[in-house]
Amino acid sequence: MKIIPVFIPHAGCLYKCVYCDQHRISGAVKIPTACEVKSIIRRNLKTISKDEDVEVGFFGGTFTFLPEALQEQYLNAAYPYNLRMSTHPEAVSLKAMKVFKKKGGRLVELGIQSLDKTVLKKIKRETSVNVINAAAKCIQKTGLKLGVQVMLGLPGDTLEKSIKTAKELIKLKPETARIYPTLVIKGTELAKMRYKPLSLKQAIHQAAKVADIFEAGSVKVIRIGLHPSRDLASKKTVIAGPYHPAFGEMVRSRQMRNKIIGLVKDRYVANRSRIEVYAPRNMFSFVSGHKGDEKKFLEKYFKSPVCLFQTRPPKADGFEIKDARKDIAIIDPRMPKKAKEKLKRLNYYIIEAPLHKKLARPVKGHVDMMLFRHGDRVIYEPELENIANLLRQNGYICIKGENIKSGKYPKDIIYNACAVDDSIIHYKGRIERKIKKLKLRHLPVSQGYAKCSIIPVDKRAIITSDSKIRDIWINRGREGLLVKPGHVKLPGYKTGFIGGASGVNDRVVFFVGNLKHHPDGDKIRDFIRRRGKGVIELYDGSLYDVGTVMILPT
Ligand code: SF4
Repeated sequence: MKIIPVFIPHAGCLYKCVYCDQHRISGAVKIPTACEVKSIIRRNLKTISKDEDVEVGFFGGTFTFLPEALQEQYLNAAYPYNLRMSTHPEAVSLKAMKVFKKKGGRLVELGIQSLDKTVLKKIKRETSVNVINAAAKCIQKTGLKLGVQVMLGLPGDTLEKSIKTAKELIKLKPETARIYPTLVIKGTELAKMRYKPLSLKQAIHQAAKVADIFEAGSVKVIRIGLHPSRDLASKKTVIAGPYHPAFGEMVRSRQMRNKIIGLVKDRYVANRSRIEVYAPRNMFSFVSGHKGDEKKFLEKYFKSPVCLFQTRPPKADGFEIKDARKDIAIIDPRMPKKAKEKLKRLNYYIIEAPLHKKLARPVKGHVDMMLFRHGDRVIYEPELENIANLLRQNGYICIKGENIKSGKYPKDIIYNACAVDDSIIHYKGRIERKIKKLKLRHLPVSQGYAKCSIIPVDKRAIITSDSKIRDIWINRGREGLLVKPGHVKLPGYKTGFIGGASGVNDRVVFFVGNLKHHPDGDKIRDFIRRRGKGVIELYDGSLYDVGTVMILPT
């Protein structure tokens, strides 16, 4: 909808508010005659498409305090268009509203500026809240819509007061709101007062907050900041205050920034790869902000790139945020460098397990000795608190388990259980209490290093070097490949385990080392491929038991 503005500078005003000079703000020198109103409308219509709804608005004065005859002339001049006007709450009467409605009136904007008594007194608008409420009711009772105008940074004002004003005004159920930061206009009383205006930065911050409040209350914010003009841009008119020709856009961008911050749950997440913003192309500039400032701020705030993508049909006008994360790979910090580098190249976020002081030296960084995972549930040794916090940020339910109190077998293997589908294969003796309590099918075995001995290829199939584990699994009607034990390096021990030299996600089985060094390498590769998964060898050497590459998708 297009509004044709007709300025009636200060016409009807009972007094002059300290900040106001409608002549300079609107550029109108005098009030128009009815004839001039007609020609203003005609002139504007030439620039408006025929399909567009048009409304004529009388702004810049107190319309309903004009002499009744002049009001009528103006209203007749604007016939047959829908009308809106701005007026002072004290100038609202049932009679005036009825006349306005009859002549095509649709909406009345009340200049409220603030509901704070001290502020109103300082700006010489000593209207009471009761008068404002009564005016709003009177407008709505007549069947007219209500609009409100507020100002920010007035003498004696604070952000808290402006927020309170906005919240109170929402209760009056206005349809629209306009938000103006206070500017010091040459020749006004404000220019002579001891007054410190808001900086541009403060004004943007405050306007965005207040606009957010109005919009959250279903009030449409139709204007933020004065309409830019050459007069306002000149230092001769605005002598101080947060004037900027793009003020409205800057505030909209700040609202967008606040919205994005509100939508992204965690400020900093170590494995975040980027924040993706999906929006229609015409919203890109709002996300980026003036000179890209808001996007730069967001990138600093989240310590992550922020990337813009055009929303694709069918959600062409939608707005969406995706917090893109790298999948996590938890590893023993002593894992061969080449394997680590390959994982990084594969875009995993690598997190190194701490070296546990109680565990024996060869396995003190082994993840499968300290952490158990079933789906999105993780039970972890307390030393892994930092890792658990990162996993929580990525949606995992992490439960702190018992401390490992000894490095002696079997006290050291309490976490070494392997979850496959709805089952857990674990040592028949004592295991970590919370793992024990999990409501899954428990398959106890005599092998203490159960996880180390198993590659859980998928829900149905495992690869193991332990024949008893293979048997118990096959007896459940599932599939198991038995491979020769040994042929896996683990410095400090005679041999390592095949499960400890692997890692699994839903597409691939990783091996720390090359399968060609294992006598059953081809069988292993075949078994995995037949189940629709790929094989990735993380480096070219012998298989190396690193205590499992624990892959956690995000
Ligand atoms: S703010 Fe409104 S009421 Fe006050 S002087 Fe300006 S036009 Fe008149």
